[in-house]
Amino acid sequence: MVIETVAYLGLGSNLDTPIEQLRDARMAICAINGIEEIAFSSLYRSPPMGSQNQPDYVNAVMAIKTNLPPLILLSTLQHIENEQGRVRTERWGARTLDLDILLFGDQILDFPNLIVPHYGMTERAFVLYPLFEIAPDLMIPKHGTLAELVARCPLDGLERLANAT
Ligand code: ATP
Ligand code: CA
Ligand code: CA
Repeated sequence: MVIETVAYLGLGSNLDTPIEQLRDARMAICAINGIEEIAFSSLYRSPPMGSQNQPDYVNAVMAIKTNLPPLILLSTLQHIENEQGRVRTERWGARTLDLDILLFGDQILDFPNLIVPHYGMTERAFVLYPLFEIAPDLMIPKHGTLAELVARCPLDGLERLANAT
């Protein structure tokens, strides 16, 4: 029996034409066997976390249906990050592509290399607002409704850019 799970992914880029990076990442994710796209948010611009001496980010959130186990999904996404030229420097430093697993069904995962729900998602405007756009009724395990988290989260300079069609 194949178990399909709905997962939510956060995408971000602030180097080498970020909008194209997100478009390429979306295509690469859709091309994977065992992943099917359900929804993709608008693109958003957000000021950087960490060092302010780097370009603004472009962010989006994607909903997928997958039969991949969570750790395989993580390594698959990391492979795509690497393929798109991600170089790891300082924490929250500029990058061509960042792919985070925000939610994996209603599961709570606590592996050394994978924490779900993603620890930062509950207070990051660039995650909560795009997520709310595609899944307004979502419940976040351990945190309650997405609507409440959004209501409590200032925009922090987040700006909606365009529909990612
Ligand atoms: P942040 O995690 O605060 O958003 P970041 O995305 O820049 O920062 P990375 O350098 O991309 O951090 O990832 C650091 C490590 O986080 C990865 O090697 C990965 O194993 C781990 N990690 C833990 N939970 C998750 C998750 N839910 N999604 C993606 N990576 C995760
Ligand atoms: Ca991240
Ligand atoms: Ca990451």
